Amino acid sequence: MSGADTGAPIRKLVIVGGGSAGWMTAAAASRLTRAGISVTLVESDEIGIVGVGEATIPPLHDFNRFLGIDENEFVRATQASFKLGIEFANWGRVGDRYFHPFGVHGRDTEGVKFHQLWLRQSRLAAAAGDAGSIGDYNLSTVAARLGRFTRPSPDPATVLSSLSYAFHFDAGLYARFLRSFAERAGVVRVEGKIVAVEQDPASGFLTAVTLADGRRLDGDFFVDCSGFRSLLLGDTLGVGYRSWQHWLPCDRAIAVPSAHSGALHPYTRATAGKAGWRWRIPLQHRVGNGHVYSSAHCSDADAERELLEGLDAAPLAPPRHLRFLAGRREKLWEKNCVAIGLAGGFIEPLESTSIHLIQSGIFRLMALFPNADFDQREIDQYNQLLIREYEQIRDFIILHYYATERSDSDFWNHCRTMEVPDSLAAKIDLWRGKGRVFREQGDLFTEDSWIAVLLGQNILPEAYDPLARAFPVEQTGQFLQQMRRIIASTAAAMPTHAAFIKRNCAAASAA
Ligand SMILES: Cc1cc2nc3c(=O)[nH]c(=O)nc-3n(C[C@H](O)[C@H](O)[C@H](O)COP(=O)(O)OP(=O)(O)OC[C@H]3O[C@@H](n4cnc5c(N)ncnc54)[C@H](O)[C@@H]3O)c2cc1C
Repeated sequence: MSGADTGAPIRKLVIVGGGSAGWMTAAAASRLTRAGISVTLVESDEIGIVGVGEATIPPLHDFNRFLGIDENEFVRATQASFKLGIEFANWGRVGDRYFHPFGVHGRDTEGVKFHQLWLRQSRLAAAAGDAGSIGDYNLSTVAARLGRFTRPSPDPATVLSSLSYAFHFDAGLYARFLRSFAERAGVVRVEGKIVAVEQDPASGFLTAVTLADGRRLDGDFFVDCSGFRSLLLGDTLGVGYRSWQHWLPCDRAIAVPSAHSGALHPYTRATAGKAGWRWRIPLQHRVGNGHVYSSAHCSDADAERELLEGLDAAPLAPPRHLRFLAGRREKLWEKNCVAIGLAGGFIEPLESTSIHLIQSGIFRLMALFPNADFDQREIDQYNQLLIREYEQIRDFIILHYYATERSDSDFWNHCRTMEVPDSLAAKIDLWRGKGRVFREQGDLFTEDSWIAVLLGQNILPEAYDPLARAFPVEQTGQFLQQMRRIIASTAAAMPTHAAFIKRNCAAASAA
């Protein structure tokens, strides 16, 4: 294709920031060097990275595949462990516990959703025998309960093919791993602190960044991965921030690593407290812990005490305090600048979605990679897709706070009684009727995810799909029982999580 067909090409891409967002972008953008585009990443050792994104969700496999990363090598390099889902404690009520797994529940039958068969059967439990919990029909849940893990089978005829997983990893090691990948592939790293950003006086487009030592890096396309600072999109281009704090009041976090104790769980734990929640993320060499809370409802000192008292082993470093505001930039792409990662927005880490949003931004950027003329239609499309994704994730996170019966603190009283976005209210309302739930276009979370959280937080539908009546009760009971048996025996046959890692991908210092 000639230059005339494609317009004037981008020649110099500058990525500002070397956290997970910067290095994920650089690793993917290293492909662009083959098209004659130079890719430079600037990061400041003095400023450092936020370094707390340690839990992921299954679409990360797509990113690894895109880069051609060997999974065992990646797990070893990042001290990673495997994640089958999240255990939620004390969310619906104090004392409640449920699991939001990856993968599906049961199997749809003749067009009737599995959870509808289960809903009906559990209502008829006396007649049909105990239908168990919905989690009994999800392999990731049952394996997580047993502390077991193996990779799914490629044979779709087996139950083992339904296992779905992601990773917990050390964010600092992940950035280092991707850095070495990107540098090998031709990305140039520049260390230094940006002190000035230049713009074209007529168009306002970014033209260069200047470092504290006077070096100047010019570019024709910029990716802002500068973290919460949002140096280019926010500070320089003045794109405003839309706060979601009224729905997501948590605005502080404290992170602290601790030593290992007990079994290596293949899941994240999220334990709700009086004014937020605590995470526990097991890695090979340590456990990541944190407390996310609302500063309007809890002091920093109390939050730190609650976190340290909840540790099940000694802390390995002093606690780190972080501040944030849930929300997103009004646009993620403006002029010749795209913000990826925290520079574009932040939804708290309850469902480990930030790294996914980075990945999603990168994939969409690759799909809409511009010419030097920057087609506004493409920029609008990018913004529309990303904003929709942010908002769909936002709704799912709000659900966790809103769907509660807790009344033991001002925080929960606020969450339980707040007005939620119309999009979420409509979804809950539809569910309350006959347990209907639909995945909308571009929605990250599957129907199974919504079902797990809605049921886990005690929002029970009034009725079920009338078509479920087409299946005789007794036969359905047998079908369910058989499915539970197969899932239980498949999970029991897996190695323990620790044994799987030891055999396949133990990091040198954790072997
Ligand atoms: C409490 C908490 C918990 C989280 N947990 C999870 C999780 O479990 N799962 C998940 O997916 N995500 C999680 N996240 C989000 C995740 O940490 C981030 O999405 C991810 O780390 C990406 O951060 P970043 O690269 O955008 O920003 P940062 O890591 O802050 O990187 C910013 C980069 O910009 C550079 N920079 C900034 N200003 C300048 C300057 N003037 N000159 C030069 N360089 C500059 C910095 O040096 C740094 O390299 C969590 C976030 C928080 C706050």
